[in-house]
Amino acid sequence: MDAADSLNEEAARQIVELGNELADRHPDADLWSIADGLLAGAIHWWLYANQPCSDISCEECAPVCTASLRMHQLRTLLAEYAESSEYYHSPNDQDVARA
Ligand SMILES: [Zn+2]
Repeated sequence: MDAADSLNEEAARQIVELGNELADRHPDADLWSIADGLLAGAIHWWLYANQPCSDISCEECAPVCTASLRMHQLRTLLAEYAESSEYYHSPNDQDVARA
């Protein structure tokens, strides 16, 4: 694992820990509210970090050089991370076959 992968995992782990800590500190809180706040913060930070540089011909920034392209990148990552989550499917999903 390289340093970037390691940082990616650490950031994800710390977000989960923050969610758990907030849920522990506010046992009556709506978990969806905590989750929405974590997601909002993560998206804001991702958009901050993925701003293109000032060189309009920069090839490295080409995939994120417009708001629309950044949203495309974000949706791709969103699907990738969601589908790789152990919580992507729930045993209570309406489309789960029940015997
Ligand atoms: Zn650039």
